[in-house]
Amino acid sequence: MKSLEEVLRDWEAVIGLEVHTELTTLTTKMFCGCELSHADEPNAHVCPVCLGLPGALPVPNREAIRSIVKAGLATGCEIEKRSMFYRKHYFYPDMAKNFQTTQGPVAFCMHGRLDLGVRGQGASELPDGAAAERAGDGSVPVTRGEDGYEVPIRILRIHMEEDAAKMNHLGGAEGRITEAAESLIDYNRCGTPLIELVTEPDLRTPEEARLFMEKLRRIFLTIGISDCSLESGSMRCDGNVSLRRKGETELGTKTELKNINSFKSLHDGLEYEIRRQAEVLEEGGTVRQETRHFEPGRKRTVVMRVKETADDYRLFPDPDLAPFDLSDGFIESCRAELPELPDAKRDRYMAAWGLRAEDAETLAGEPALAAFFEAAVAAGEPAHAQATANLVLNGVMGFWNAEGAGPAESPVSPEQVASLAALVAADAVTSAQAREVLPICAETGDDPAKIVDERGMRQVTDDDALLPVVEAVLARCPDQVRQYREGNVKVIGFLVGQCMRESKGKGNPKRFNELLRERLS
Ligand code: ADP
Ligand code: MG
Ligand code: ZN
Repeated sequence: MKSLEEVLRDWEAVIGLEVHTELTTLTTKMFCGCELSHADEPNAHVCPVCLGLPGALPVPNREAIRSIVKAGLATGCEIEKRSMFYRKHYFYPDMAKNFQTTQGPVAFCMHGRLDLGVRGQGASELPDGAAAERAGDGSVPVTRGEDGYEVPIRILRIHMEEDAAKMNHLGGAEGRITEAAESLIDYNRCGTPLIELVTEPDLRTPEEARLFMEKLRRIFLTIGISDCSLESGSMRCDGNVSLRRKGETELGTKTELKNINSFKSLHDGLEYEIRRQAEVLEEGGTVRQETRHFEPGRKRTVVMRVKETADDYRLFPDPDLAPFDLSDGFIESCRAELPELPDAKRDRYMAAWGLRAEDAETLAGEPALAAFFEAAVAAGEPAHAQATANLVLNGVMGFWNAEGAGPAESPVSPEQVASLAALVAADAVTSAQAREVLPICAETGDDPAKIVDERGMRQVTDDDALLPVVEAVLARCPDQVRQYREGNVKVIGFLVGQCMRESKGKGNPKRFNELLRERLS
């Protein structure tokens, strides 16, 4: 098979995503009062409504409607005041009613938009000059900048539906139904409020698809409607992809990758599928419209089933649920509850503290992380914000990981991080030393300045003390001095190392480096 890069020189990949998000922050199910909980005994939270017993009547969960309206407002959607629920019929034991309650042509949220910034390495997946305009009619413009591009991705709709029960297929390989000897059903998950977001086919590379999904996750986390865990399946994604010759405006036949459970699988699965389709088409074959499953371990996709059509589901309005008539007051009260969104937060970090864009984006993306970072900046100097960001991203987060902790229950306090960042900013300790100090901060609860002094870790940055060391090293290493002056500037590393040895590790390597360069120029 050709590489992605080669394929995208001749073909345009067209990608649309369908993202399911369980509203895990709610306390009860979508149409009944059963507790929302996945941790309890199987089938502990069931009732006649979610088991679909005859005569049981559903009542919509007001909080779930608030959540989807917030999701729509946060993604630039129009909120439809009048929409209703439909029945989508199918037979499968994970849905005892024999239909799923979902929405029809009009969803609560329609026609939104998310802007993606594609930078660095990922920007090169889209070959230069390719797909400058999207959607054929140019309604999706791409703005190119120095290190990448920005593209708006249209959202077709976000609708409300309910999740199915969880099935456990026992006795077969990988828990697949085909080899299973028996199947167990846990209806606790059945009836969990679920929102499905469908994009227009505006994405063009696996990287864009991954960035879209990551951005959506940051927004949903921030507005607090879900724990958005791809691992545990509270956020899941289907990737639709087709190819067409460059310059062609008609869409090709798509395949759909189901239930992708990591950002990497989304990227790699789409990449594989694009390469596979290119091979089929270039050999004169046709792509069949089918649902495929990505196997990350073997890096390939396999057929699950050939596509059903909407007619097969007998979609019709649910007679048990009255159409909605959302008031302006309701919608405005949802808007009033929206917190600062990740993009706005990122822009604020950049404007107020001069943070690098990528750092600001990462920190602003998770509410608990953003709160921790802001507390650390508040406890120190605004001028140390970037140093604080560096320490959080390249030290504290790794430490949390190792400790199985996170920003909400951090073993180091924002105050300790602020004071440690100040030490790094003043070159009193290196970033590597700062990482060593973190566990001691957690263990002793002491101020990092005290720890650094007690353990003799404070670095010498005073030129009066460093210069004699530099002179001594230069006198000792005439060969390296000559090499440097002949243009082999890499020997500076060796000379810094010598200075560090000479100063028994106390001298500041950055300052040694500067002093050596000054002396040698
Ligand atoms: P289905 O009925 O198969 O679920 P939809 O028309 O609802 O298909 O579209 C599902 C997703 O697939 C949407 O995100 C849409 O943008 C995308 N999509 C539709 N047609 C194509 C195509 N030809 N190539 C790529 N993506 C597509
Ligand atoms: Mg679909
Ligand atoms: Zn119930």
